[in-house]
Amino acid sequence: MKLATARLSLASTTAVRLDGEEWVQLPYRDLGELLAWQLPWSEIAAMNGPRLPASALDVAPVVPAPDKIVCLGLNYASHIHEMGRPTPQYPTLFAKYRGALIGARDRIVLPMVSREMDWEAELGIVIGKGGRHIPRERALDSVAGYTVINDVTARDWQHRTREFLSGKTFEATTPVGPWLVTPDELPPGASGLPITCEVDGETVQKSTTSDLLFDVADIVSYLSQIITLLPGDLIATGTPGGVGAGRDPQVFLRSGQVLTTRIDGIGELTNLCIDEDPA
Ligand code: ZN
Repeated sequence: MKLATARLSLASTTAVRLDGEEWVQLPYRDLGELLAWQLPWSEIAAMNGPRLPASALDVAPVVPAPDKIVCLGLNYASHIHEMGRPTPQYPTLFAKYRGALIGARDRIVLPMVSREMDWEAELGIVIGKGGRHIPRERALDSVAGYTVINDVTARDWQHRTREFLSGKTFEATTPVGPWLVTPDELPPGASGLPITCEVDGETVQKSTTSDLLFDVADIVSYLSQIITLLPGDLIATGTPGGVGAGRDPQVFLRSGQVLTTRIDGIGELTNLCIDEDPA
């Protein structure tokens, strides 16, 4: 099953379910609200509502206002190597705020104060049941589904200090979506899926989700030792090698470029980059 959040107008959104070539409007404000009800999948699959053609769907961030957005840095050997870092013993964690999130077809706003906006294709986890102190062997039961994220990063700001946050949560920079795919449609832990990133059609990242250093079960279990995971929480699992900062010479995003982020079996983000309007 595929579930998403769609915009009905500037001010309102709805949770939707893909049904063949159509989207069915579900009676929830967004996917986060739907997940909070903890309904059985069979009940969600059977819900009826107004139908929209897929072509008419304006997707919002898959969960527009998660309680938490947690990200892993340095979680693929190829990216650890290009960033010149040692292999970490524990997951490297940082957070984003919801103002960073945009939909799968929205524009990425390149901040006027950064000259080094860089791409990071990532597998996204959306929490379903959640909980605290979730053992690794039960961690996958806490996942509502998987999505695609590009953790677009201001490298110049990321590296101003030892903490990553300032480079990671610029407004309207992180596309997430287009939808959530439930785990029954994917390999366990969404492992083994090709993940790619393209800039204007040129492939810049190409890897597989099998190469995660800390896998989905590790990540969910680890985070739940720190804080109670809640329905709709979003986790970005880290990016493979091939980022612009790891190239020689370095390459960064420019206005007018199109960033395409794809995970086979999940979906694709297509985002036009534009300069921040100084007004
Ligand atoms: Zn990242």
